[in-house]
Amino acid sequence: MPLSGPEALSMAYGVNHYRVDKPLRDVLRHYLGREPGFDPLGEYAGRDLYEVAYRVDRLSPPVHIMYDVRGERVDLSWLDPAERRVVRDLMLEYKVNSFPFNGGSWHEHYAGINLVGDPGVACILTITIQTAYALWKYGPEEVRDYYKNLAGLEEPLMLGATWFTEIQGGSDLGANTTRAEPSNGKWILNGYKYFASGAGIADIALATARPPDSRPGAKGLALFVVPRLREDGSLNYYVRRLKEKSGTVAVPTGEVEFIDTEAYLVGEKEKGIYYTLEDLMVSRLSNAAGAVGIQRKAYLEAFGYATYRRAFGKRLIEHQLVKRDLLEMEVLTEESLVITHKAIDLFEKATGDRPPYSPQYHYARLMTHIAKNITAENAARVTMLAMELFGGIGFLRDYMIERWHREALITPIWEGTSNIQALDMLEAIARKNAHLPLLEDMKALASQAYDKETANKAYEAMAKTLEDLARMPPSTAEYNAKYILDDLGHSASVILLEELASSTGDERYHWVAKIILDYVLARKPIGHPGEDKLMEIVTLGGTLRA
Ligand SMILES: Cc1cc2nc3c(=O)[nH]c(=O)nc-3n(C[C@H](O)[C@H](O)[C@H](O)COP(=O)(O)OP(=O)(O)OC[C@H]3O[C@@H](n4cnc5c(N)ncnc54)[C@H](O)[C@@H]3O)c2cc1C
Repeated sequence: MPLSGPEALSMAYGVNHYRVDKPLRDVLRHYLGREPGFDPLGEYAGRDLYEVAYRVDRLSPPVHIMYDVRGERVDLSWLDPAERRVVRDLMLEYKVNSFPFNGGSWHEHYAGINLVGDPGVACILTITIQTAYALWKYGPEEVRDYYKNLAGLEEPLMLGATWFTEIQGGSDLGANTTRAEPSNGKWILNGYKYFASGAGIADIALATARPPDSRPGAKGLALFVVPRLREDGSLNYYVRRLKEKSGTVAVPTGEVEFIDTEAYLVGEKEKGIYYTLEDLMVSRLSNAAGAVGIQRKAYLEAFGYATYRRAFGKRLIEHQLVKRDLLEMEVLTEESLVITHKAIDLFEKATGDRPPYSPQYHYARLMTHIAKNITAENAARVTMLAMELFGGIGFLRDYMIERWHREALITPIWEGTSNIQALDMLEAIARKNAHLPLLEDMKALASQAYDKETANKAYEAMAKTLEDLARMPPSTAEYNAKYILDDLGHSASVILLEELASSTGDERYHWVAKIILDYVLARKPIGHPGEDKLMEIVTLGGTLRA
């Protein structure tokens, strides 16, 4: 019978994206000691949200409205009403941004981001919770309470934004030139932000700027809160234009001008760069969780297609090479998942920390660099394989699979490129000794692992990588930093998968760990894992029907 709804465009539409995701459910149970009630969100993610995000990408991007019908400058980004509804639902009905502020956990917030998957919609939630986090933790009295509106705890709902990048450098934040002058108990900003997601929808933004007589470079930056409207109700920031992007269409990204813009200082002005980097941890973890979600959506599309499409007289999923592709995709997705939630766990434990930070905070930061890097790399690979499994139609814009590879490609770029994650990792190791708590933690986990031999081999690989690094002259270390970051990610994830196998009693996580160890870390071909194991892994423990 011909299909009549969005099912016609997708193999993942109509699936409950939470219910089928046994690994996600297991990881949440592992860290929370209970399973959150995410079935309604999983249903929503596989239906309304999935369709709206596709439609916005194809047909209905945000539109910049510079002047209103009365001729007044408004600088709005007009979102499709269906997208506005989705953002509202996610914040007020599913409470994705509320968990960390109402007694819940950051694991729940980031599981929500994972289920959203779409990086445009996820970005709107992320920049909003980043703003909430900074206000909640360091916010000036005048505006602090708005964190409740940004967290979806109180209405009216508000959206946030984080504007750091300027045209002369995003990686090099120390090149920021936006100026800040004190004025009557507030601050006045003048400058230009070149990549500003949330432009035209943000009620409140965070922005970096340079106060008078501050130190040169990044250490001279202070962090400010910028409301959309001045105290007298006039427009406080201007949007020059919205960017035309290859993906992330649902979030308007614009160029923003500050012209005598009223602002409030966050915390102490000398500590702005620390607050900014701490806030970037919130979005880097979101990037990692979103990258896991992208992989999962692409997987659900590819798995569905592989069970349906026939070639050479049998279904794709009956071909050994197709099973191998699915296995690789699933292994990388589970690797991404465990490393992300480990980093989230460390971050959650460090949220009470303030500059100058404790070793636990630096360990959380190190794990965040590791997770941000490896999940982005895996998202690019998994979505590419998924697209390939669809053959020619995988390349057509007509169907929903095509978008996931485009969307995956933002994940190594924004929130600090992979090179920047690698350089920050070197800094966290060389200056903060963040590898010491990493080694200690991983050793302890390996000693209680489901399969100690596999976990210990991964631990030894990690220790060897770090020993090699310690012997490298600085230029060699910098040259190799991305390899090192990758290796730390793979070895940590083997240990974390063995930990998950132990806590769930489910051997599948041990098989996945072993495949990463053999395939990825030792770079040796593996034998056939055995038909039963293989199908157990690729059907997500039987939650998918092959
Ligand atoms: C869709 C989108 C939305 C965005 N939204 C926001 C936002 O809301 N707020 C915000 O502040 N920013 C935002 N950004 C900006 C984004 O964070 C930056 O683009 C990113 O951090 C890279 O900075 P850059 O573009 O200036 O690249 P550059 O810093 O010019 O880097 C160019 C290349 O050089 C490499 N590189 C730079 N320095 C080094 C080095 N020392 N060693 C090795 N390699 C190096 C980088 O890895 C990169 O590959 C957004 C970007 C995009 C694409």
